[in-house]
Amino acid sequence: MATTTANGATGPKVNHIGLPVIEYRGGKSTLCAGCGHNAISERIIDAMFEMGVQPERVLKMSGIGCSSKSPAYFMSRAHSFNGVHGRMPSITTGAVLANRTMMALGVSGAAGRPLVGATGLAGAVPSTTR
Ligand code: SF4
Repeated sequence: MATTTANGATGPKVNHIGLPVIEYRGGKSTLCAGCGHNAISERIIDAMFEMGVQPERVLKMSGIGCSSKSPAYFMSRAHSFNGVHGRMPSITTGAVLANRTMMALGVSGAAGRPLVGATGLAGAVPSTTR
């Protein structure tokens, strides 16, 4: 979206840290049309742009399955890590404890949370991560 500035110049709308929304986008999705992960990725892009989060401060954590592909579809400038099946919460907890200046975003599908990931999630809930 282009906007006109006070001096009449046109350019993309930027957030309060001076980044246009394109800096929060990722690659073209290869997930199924209508997949919920695509809608979630779009909302993440919107939210991070609106909040003016520096992309390099974000860790995109995932496990195995379709959900593990979705971090490629938002915030290309952020860091990304694809862990083993069901262990995204544990790995994310460790990463944030190791570097508390980072903001972590965990992506998981059905199998990674209530089934395989139950043990890791139970361990992550009492932690003080954000
Ligand atoms: S989770 Fe995987 S199989 Fe299901 S709709 Fe999304 S891309 Fe398709």
